[in-house]
Amino acid sequence: MGKQLKYKRILYKASGEALMGEQGFGIDPETLARVAADIIEAKALGIDIGVVIGGGNIFRGLSLAAKGADRVTGDHMGMLATVMNALALRMELEIQGAEAVVLSGLAIPAACEPFTQRGMIEHRSKGRIVIFAGGTGSPYFTTDTGAALRAAEFGAEAIFKGTQVDGVYSADPKKDQNAVRYESLSHSEVLEKGLEVMDAAAVSLARDNNIPVVIFSIADKGGLAKILCGEGRSTTISE
Ligand code: UDP
Repeated sequence: MGKQLKYKRILYKASGEALMGEQGFGIDPETLARVAADIIEAKALGIDIGVVIGGGNIFRGLSLAAKGADRVTGDHMGMLATVMNALALRMELEIQGAEAVVLSGLAIPAACEPFTQRGMIEHRSKGRIVIFAGGTGSPYFTTDTGAALRAAEFGAEAIFKGTQVDGVYSADPKKDQNAVRYESLSHSEVLEKGLEVMDAAAVSLARDNNIPVVIFSIADKGGLAKILCGEGRSTTISE
């Protein structure tokens, strides 16, 4: 069944906001259930899937630093937020019958396994959905950069980034009526044009490792599987 698919191993990046639903903060159980169902549907196409989840629905390091607080402590708190989301997602995936594991770049061994390449390969070979928590494990980075890093380590053939819109636009389409949507772009064009689709560190890491990034909307249920099957709208960033 998976034969006609372009990618057999992917890294799915969902921001923390993808879990908060209408409530505007934290984790909405119904939204969590939908995100998990989308991942299971994609996995059922016969692919390896790794997931990087953000933490912006709970905490962002910069929000403290802006008020003069210590950036590193704020970023540790942000990474802890991603661990909370990852644990919630693992729980929901298991409730829905999937096998999943959380590997964290920020070691919290009582709650989840610390990330190691060997551990990751073992879980991947057993067909488990591998959730990468804690971003890169270092402050001053984002989970987008974590996604680019883990994609390279996971051997992902592409990063699928779910966003609020159905691709990359020249400006924010929710604010600017003249915004133009791109069908495809190179990593370098994204950097040169300063498009705010992913932070620059993440885009250049994906470029250096020759990993395409597919930007698509998570507004519709089943969006990830559709895009994997070559349906629906998305923008592909590749060299
Ligand atoms: N963070 C970090 N290093 C990383 C990834 C994340 O310090 O490698 C912290 C940072 O404070 C960030 C927060 O975790 O603001 C949540 O991640 P992010 O903002 O990327 O989440 P998203 O916007 O995807 O929900």
